[in-house]
Amino acid sequence: MTAKAPAPQLAQARRIVIKVGSALLVDGAQAALRADWLRSVCEDIASLKKAGTEVVVVSSGAISLARHQLGLMNRRLRLDEKQALATVGQIGLAQGWSDALAQHGLVAGQLLLTPDDTESRERHLNARATLQTLLDLGCIPVINENDAIATSEIRFGDNDRLGARVAQMIEADCLVLLSDIDGLYTADPRTDPAARHIPVIEQVTDDIMAMGGEPPPGYSSGGMRTKLMAARIANRAGASMVIAAGQAQNPIQKLLDGGLCTWFLPQTDTGSARKRWIGSSLHPKGALVVDAGARNALIVGASLLPAGVTAIDGHFERGDLVLIKDEQGDVLGRGLASYTAQECTKLIGHRSEEMEQLLGYRGRDVLIHRDDLVLDQH
Ligand code: GLU
Repeated sequence: MTAKAPAPQLAQARRIVIKVGSALLVDGAQAALRADWLRSVCEDIASLKKAGTEVVVVSSGAISLARHQLGLMNRRLRLDEKQALATVGQIGLAQGWSDALAQHGLVAGQLLLTPDDTESRERHLNARATLQTLLDLGCIPVINENDAIATSEIRFGDNDRLGARVAQMIEADCLVLLSDIDGLYTADPRTDPAARHIPVIEQVTDDIMAMGGEPPPGYSSGGMRTKLMAARIANRAGASMVIAAGQAQNPIQKLLDGGLCTWFLPQTDTGSARKRWIGSSLHPKGALVVDAGARNALIVGASLLPAGVTAIDGHFERGDLVLIKDEQGDVLGRGLASYTAQECTKLIGHRSEEMEQLLGYRGRDVLIHRDDLVLDQH
């Protein structure tokens, strides 16, 4: 398959999310937005709109812009400073988008989201309804993380994943990540001359994840790794994702013209409706932390046994949706608990044969049955 093969996914998309990184938007020397470039992106957006595609923008740049405005380039910022800076930069960022879109007769609407807004069912539905109404009105929603009020534990921290969450929320067909790199390589092309560009990824496996390396230090985007995590979210939600170089003018048009990029294809086989529902549920009531042995067993299709669970989090009832996490806190998947949180607390670490005695009655001999369990792509 060539890099050009899935480009029609973009041309034919009904609804797309375009995520723009800080490095593309902010001109450090001028302590301002790159106005010409921004105008060219808005020109591309206007063409997409004319062709009948709905467009949602996820824009970074608030913290970076404020850093330049306030002359705070040369030192590391504390989290509270970044949060304060975001409130400064967001004004100029939103104004920049609004002005540039207006030049093409388009109207911007600003939405600032925290992870809670995509995870809690009620807020998710509210945010989705607002986005839908904005799109119905012909506006271009411009979204950023609400950095000022998100706490460190619950921040998205990078707009790649926020973009994927938004794509999932509004059932977009395609998520475009405009970045300073033109896709995924087998190794870091800046340091390894043998690195090969990969045009299409069918599934983000652990081997593919390993190509993302570690996140770079610094305050803004999470590098390739968070882009791959975003691909997992978007692809599982049925959207394709593309990583394309964004520095040059009219980056979306360049992509449509067949520019170098990496496509991540949507997962079409997402299992039964029940599993799809579990996989896309947004309101987990708690989490089960599993050890490495249990993780490996889950990957080969086993049910989750109490012996492999090392900790429980949250208050859940039997049948509630819970996350399955590894000991590093990464989410492996989700499923429906066979027991309440209180019962699970008694059972974890024990062998299935001991369950009846521990509970005082005979129930299922697994904490989550494999039919009630959906793993993220690993
Ligand atoms: N929300 C942050 C900002 O606007 C950027 C996060 C990111 O770079 O992905 O400054």
